[in-house]
Amino acid sequence: MERMMKRTWAEISLGNLEHNVRNMQAQLPEGCRYLGVVKANAYGHGAVPVAKRLEEIGVTNMAVACYDEAVQLREAGITAQLLILGPSPAFLAKDIAVLGDVCQAVGSLSLAQAMSAEMDGSGLTLPIHLKLDTGMSRTGFSVMQHGALEAAAQAMALPGLDAQGVFTHFAVSDELGNDFTAEQFLRFTRSVSWLEETSGKKFALRHCTNSGAMVNYPEMYLDMVRPGIAQYGLYPASEHGALDLKPVMKLMTRVAEITDHLPGDTVSYGRTYTCERPHRFAVLPIGYADGLHRALSNQLEVVIGGEKARQCGRICMDMCMVDITDLPGVQIGDPVEIFGGEQSVDALAELAGTISYELLCAVSPRVPRVYVD
Ligand SMILES: *Cc1c(COP(=O)(O)O)cnc(C)c1O
Repeated sequence: MERMMKRTWAEISLGNLEHNVRNMQAQLPEGCRYLGVVKANAYGHGAVPVAKRLEEIGVTNMAVACYDEAVQLREAGITAQLLILGPSPAFLAKDIAVLGDVCQAVGSLSLAQAMSAEMDGSGLTLPIHLKLDTGMSRTGFSVMQHGALEAAAQAMALPGLDAQGVFTHFAVSDELGNDFTAEQFLRFTRSVSWLEETSGKKFALRHCTNSGAMVNYPEMYLDMVRPGIAQYGLYPASEHGALDLKPVMKLMTRVAEITDHLPGDTVSYGRTYTCERPHRFAVLPIGYADGLHRALSNQLEVVIGGEKARQCGRICMDMCMVDITDLPGVQIGDPVEIFGGEQSVDALAELAGTISYELLCAVSPRVPRVYVD
């Protein structure tokens, strides 16, 4: 059994995932759908186990970033309606259609035309969601520009495509009180009305709510919400709104070795930490190849047996050292929390100069995911 002990692992609480989803579903008005965003390996939590739990609790819609992620879910037997959020190359149009109930985001007339041409003669229809750019300037028909809506209307009319949905993405919905979200929402709803009037067709799904809007703008839920980070139990900003979320991932490692050092000894590459007194270090088998950002060197604290221990010296590829001089009870094999329990991902992200999303996604494939409840 001892040989089975993991060096470093990510504990994934599917119970907390379920709690978060149910909590958000409870906020939704009658008829509003919940789409779970499971792109990027479900923000590092494992796309297939996460999607399976979502499906078990009745989530009917999920979003991925690209075709390969949609294939992974279908191969695992996930039958929920999928939305590919990113642009796909046109030559994949038929492959996407044969997956069944997979919608492709389309944000330009040229892509729509190329996909329509691919579908020609296949006897299949590709379901699409029109992507409108209302101020993010990433992808989508840029509704601020002359002719963009006419182009979107043309895309809707193309054979082989079925525009079932329309959506946009917010740039600052996590910032409560920033007027730009209301501006984007207004641009979106006006554009959708214009498209529906012009085409004579009603979209089944109009959606714009990411986690920021989930917390801050309940009036913008429309037909479907699509939270990502909130599903994994993290708030996009300090506001919590009506939501009650629990972190899903806990990143854990364990003490691999204990070493003693003399005053004057320097620690790790670059000698960035000098022992001022006799030191005892715990060597932890986690490094930047596991997703522990090197930028956190000499800043990070970890939690061992409920106590904080300071990380000293540069974080290496596979290891780092923490000071346990004042924690005499620590022993080889003791579990160590990096984040997700007593230490929040957000606090760590701030230290690293980034956001929780990046730390979760950074947990590398080398780290086994261990699923609990
Ligand atoms: C990633 C993504 C989301 C989810 O964003 P969160 O901030 O994690 O809620 C929603 N919509 C689109 C288009 C996205 O790319």
